[in-house]
Amino acid sequence: MDRYPLLEFNLKKLYHNTEIVTKLCENYGIKVAGIIKGFGGIPEGAEEMAKGGCYQIGSSRIDQLRVLKERGFDVPLLLVRIPMMCEIEDVVKYSDLSLVSEKETLDLLNSEAKKQDKVYGVVLMYDLGDLREGVFLKEDLIKLALYVEYDLNNLYLEGIGTNLSCYGSVAPSTENLNRLAEAATEIEEKLNRNLNIVSGGGTTTLPLLVRGGVPKKINHLRIGEGINNTQDLPLYWDTNIEGLDPDVFVLKAQIVELNEKPTHPIGQLMVNAFGDLPHYDDRGIRKRAIVALGNQDLGDSSRLVPKDKDMIVLGASSDHTILDIHDCKSQYKLGDIVEFNILYQAMLMTSLSDYVHKKIIKY
Ligand SMILES: *Cc1c(COP(=O)(O)O)cnc(C)c1O
Repeated sequence: MDRYPLLEFNLKKLYHNTEIVTKLCENYGIKVAGIIKGFGGIPEGAEEMAKGGCYQIGSSRIDQLRVLKERGFDVPLLLVRIPMMCEIEDVVKYSDLSLVSEKETLDLLNSEAKKQDKVYGVVLMYDLGDLREGVFLKEDLIKLALYVEYDLNNLYLEGIGTNLSCYGSVAPSTENLNRLAEAATEIEEKLNRNLNIVSGGGTTTLPLLVRGGVPKKINHLRIGEGINNTQDLPLYWDTNIEGLDPDVFVLKAQIVELNEKPTHPIGQLMVNAFGDLPHYDDRGIRKRAIVALGNQDLGDSSRLVPKDKDMIVLGASSDHTILDIHDCKSQYKLGDIVEFNILYQAMLMTSLSDYVHKKIIKY
């Protein structure tokens, strides 16, 4: 018997989505690094993304890449969080290349690579205004590129890249990506060779790509969400990519109470379990269900999308999620299982939670 809450991970759907996205990108001359951190690095998922056409597999967590290396995975592994000084040995051992923005980190990677008798790949990050990681001035970026090329013998400069719409929520645009393209061209002229990678961002660059706005020079994207959690594209980005399946992950939870209650809390309102004071609409007395699933599993219940379109997620505390089922056509009973699509944050949290059971579906 299945135990709940249960996160179902459908590998066939993941493969299918990977194929669609990698082919689409290929049409624009773009290679895809498939990013696995959004689902806790589950190795079967990484394998499916590699089979589906990803050129590299990447994660922000070196431990997730270590698991793949130890399984003898042969696709190049990309670390997408700039390395910590305390993990340099593992970074060189368990990944093939990483995104880097600091000269000192480059020096450490170089000496570690020398120790391990390797040539290790690096992609230098250029900050185009999102204000997370990356060298801010183009002149400094070029200097750093020349430094890697000519002074660090155990590093190979794979290319340059940028990160957008993360901290600063800056949208990828033809203008900002042109600055990346220009920097790449200047570096290539100075080195007198081509760069393998000019990496124009993550999933959030896909909307610009399908509108034809990504400069030709960009030849690499790092995509997780756009493959494994595709409902964000139409929801946040007004972008529909034909054929993408939103059901790679489905979360299932069991009903533990059914009742009819008022919709506005009774008594003086203070703060809820998390110190917030939400707004409550008074919609009279409604039918509701409680499922055994909560914000400690999910992060935030607003990231749940019920499969039953007539169901409304009212909110959750740590362990209970309250659903308005008043307008649902199905007659729910105690013990019934409710299914949800989950947005990125909920995918991330549920896949990492020890309290959420996992089921990998192969067919
Ligand atoms: C997480 C991450 C990505 C992939 O993001 P998605 O939204 O899952 O596509 C790409 N690049 C960097 C630097 C990241 O940290």
